[in-house]
Amino acid sequence: MARIGFVGLGNMGGPMARNLLKAGHAVTAFDLVPAALDAAAAAGATGAASAAEAADGADVVITMLPAGQHVRDAWLGAGGMAAASDAGAVLIDCSTIDVESARAVADGVGRPFLDAPVSGGVMGAENATLTFMVGGPAEAFARAEPILAVMGRTIVHCGDAGAGQAAKLCNNMMLAATMCVTAEAFILAEKLGLSHQALFDVASKSSAQSWALTTYCPVPGPVPTSPANRDYRPGFAASLMVKDVSLAQQAAASTGTQSPIGAKALELYQRFVAEGGGGTDFSGIIRMLRG
Ligand code: NAD
Repeated sequence: MARIGFVGLGNMGGPMARNLLKAGHAVTAFDLVPAALDAAAAAGATGAASAAEAADGADVVITMLPAGQHVRDAWLGAGGMAAASDAGAVLIDCSTIDVESARAVADGVGRPFLDAPVSGGVMGAENATLTFMVGGPAEAFARAEPILAVMGRTIVHCGDAGAGQAAKLCNNMMLAATMCVTAEAFILAEKLGLSHQALFDVASKSSAQSWALTTYCPVPGPVPTSPANRDYRPGFAASLMVKDVSLAQQAAASTGTQSPIGAKALELYQRFVAEGGGGTDFSGIIRMLRG
């Protein structure tokens, strides 16, 4: 049993903390929103009065926060978690943030620190089937792995500080572009008189096979569990896709990388969100593309 400090108990952090409790770990939790903290307490966590208090005395400290600035503030701000945590504690940030902030926090903390963003969404958090992409020192990774394994199924050490965030941003940029072109292909198939099922049966078994097609198929029918079958309820909300592809484009700009397809995918998802699709699953972009 480990003593775990957990900060950020939202849609993802709440169920992740619950899985740690279910596995028998002692969790001291903090969130700015009292209702989130109450829910964690109801599941067996000890409530803390601040992020620093949650970190104090823990063997493992985890943050699951919205964006880079929140993570910088929580770890490095006045009364931050870096200062409050024990010298030997394993320090992990699971939020999706920009690579630059991840590296700045690792530098600023001045001790082994892991960026470990996740893929798998709220369902993955609830079912403990998340994929963790981890950046940071190998020794810290080895110590963190058994704890991450309680919340996820696939855990990959991607390299040094920031490598976890780099993997997440590259992955989601591929996913965004793949979903857009998959949706386009189904619309073209409709125009050509080709059924959704026929296109699915061919593409899912041939060279166009992808996760966007076989798990989140943007038309109802071929994959009964895909959001298209429930009026595009997420799943993975389009607003979160905009966040992730924006971070990828920011990284492309800062490294002088040409990314015309990623840029187009971002433009399409921004338009979808501006037209009210932010809370819709990202596969719902097919509605906008139909025009
Ligand atoms: P969320 O907004 O539901 O939860 C974030 C929580 O952090 C909130 O409860 C908020 O009150 C809390 N918080 C903010 N600042 C805080 C602070 N200083 N101290 C303590 N608590 C603070 O977001 P989420 O959906 O849980 O996502 C968390 C992270 O995971 C994000 O970076 C997101 O991009 C990433 N992510 C989300 C999903 C998803 O499907 N929701 C999937 C993969 C990754």
